[in-house]
Amino acid sequence: MSQEIPYKIYLSEDEIPTQWYNLRADMKKKPAPLVNPATLKPLTAEELSVVFCKELVEQELDENTAFVDIPEEIRNFYKMYRPSPVVRAYCLEKYLDTPAEIYYKFEGNNTSGSHKLNSAIAQAYYAKKQGLKGVTTETGAGQWGTALSMASAYLGLDCKVYMVKCSYEQKPFRREVMRTYGATVTPSPSNTTEIGRKILAEFPGTTGSLGCAISEAVEVATSTEGYRYVLGSVLNQVLLHQSVIGLEAKAALDKYGIKPDMIIGCAGGGSNLGGLIAPFMREKLRGENDYRIIAVEPASCPSFTRGKYAYDFCDTGKICPLAKMYTLGSGFIPSASHAGGLRFHGMCPTLSELYDQGMMEAVAVEQTSVFEAATMFARVEGLLPAPESSHAIRVAIDEALKCKKTGEKKKILFGLTGTGYFDLVAYQKYNDGEMGDYIPTDEDIQKGWASMPKVDL
Ligand SMILES: *Cc1c(COP(=O)(O)O)cnc(C)c1O
Repeated sequence: MSQEIPYKIYLSEDEIPTQWYNLRADMKKKPAPLVNPATLKPLTAEELSVVFCKELVEQELDENTAFVDIPEEIRNFYKMYRPSPVVRAYCLEKYLDTPAEIYYKFEGNNTSGSHKLNSAIAQAYYAKKQGLKGVTTETGAGQWGTALSMASAYLGLDCKVYMVKCSYEQKPFRREVMRTYGATVTPSPSNTTEIGRKILAEFPGTTGSLGCAISEAVEVATSTEGYRYVLGSVLNQVLLHQSVIGLEAKAALDKYGIKPDMIIGCAGGGSNLGGLIAPFMREKLRGENDYRIIAVEPASCPSFTRGKYAYDFCDTGKICPLAKMYTLGSGFIPSASHAGGLRFHGMCPTLSELYDQGMMEAVAVEQTSVFEAATMFARVEGLLPAPESSHAIRVAIDEALKCKKTGEKKKILFGLTGTGYFDLVAYQKYNDGEMGDYIPTDEDIQKGWASMPKVDL
């Protein structure tokens, strides 16, 4: 096609997908099921329904339906901030002097500042439909809690957020956005739950972890009438909702006949990457097309590149189901000096299985090089990226620079998951030259593994 490619490729409102795509449907070998830690048997819908909303449980367990209708109400909410644009990073290409074409799908164009709203509204919708009073959740960096607060306010649901303590202290403004949307925000570990009190007694002075906060939120959901727990990443249902990112991206690129050679995304629990690659991975799984798919994780929390593929707990309190995933062990707590998000000890089972099958690659990057990329991107492309997103920017830049050496005109698509306005403490550290590159030793990682369940599944 000779058509000039615009800076921004927009779809119209009517082109927002009407269905989500379930990646598992096209996987011959499916991801391993969630397992009950007491019986070591796959969890049933009944067991899961104690913790999660009914329709979300169905989505969680359904590995065969490829396309799931997006309810009209959710699509209407999507219209407030979607479709999100695919941007051609002309300025970055010019700055790097690369023959590569760089595209990014920008998900930060809503108040929560990230892609998390795509699943938050879906989960809040099903909770409301079930007649629940409220939802509980954890939040690390704060984007998920913000997104869920927004969705809950929109639908009139109560929202209780357990926020990892170091982040609660570092990001008071994030907390205020959540409170403005009506959520209750508690720093975790807290003395409001049994598990929180136990963790505090065992590790006084701990700055918390996502795993701890999950335990507290689940405890509150299961012990409070009319409440369920919702999770912003890792689960299959979240990947399903996030497929809206990839479906839109592919539709936009298809308009101009652009086929990316590689697709790059940051990976915390794996939801944005799972969503971005969904329709591309579909073609790859069906043998229709090939793409290089690259997950980027922090060197300080390297679940793919240094983790084990095994059943593990999803939370520190060990009350959640076991999931088979690439993991550092639920007892692994990344260094508090790590500022860049993506702190979860494991990776979602679907991406873990695809990685194990060799369908995708992973690289770990150090945080100062991530902030270097973030700063370069902010200066030439104008957007201040979230530190998490900047992991993907780092590798997109590295790949574009490889093309400069070889002269290859590769087409690179990466996910720009959010904006970094609430991460200025991290930017400040970087600007002051006070940011370090903490990389766990093999011993640290062995310690994390020691916390894994002693089961052979
Ligand atoms: C939560 C978050 C991530 C990482 O989560 P995934 O589930 O791996 O997508 C990445 N970027 C931003 C901006 C986030 O808020």
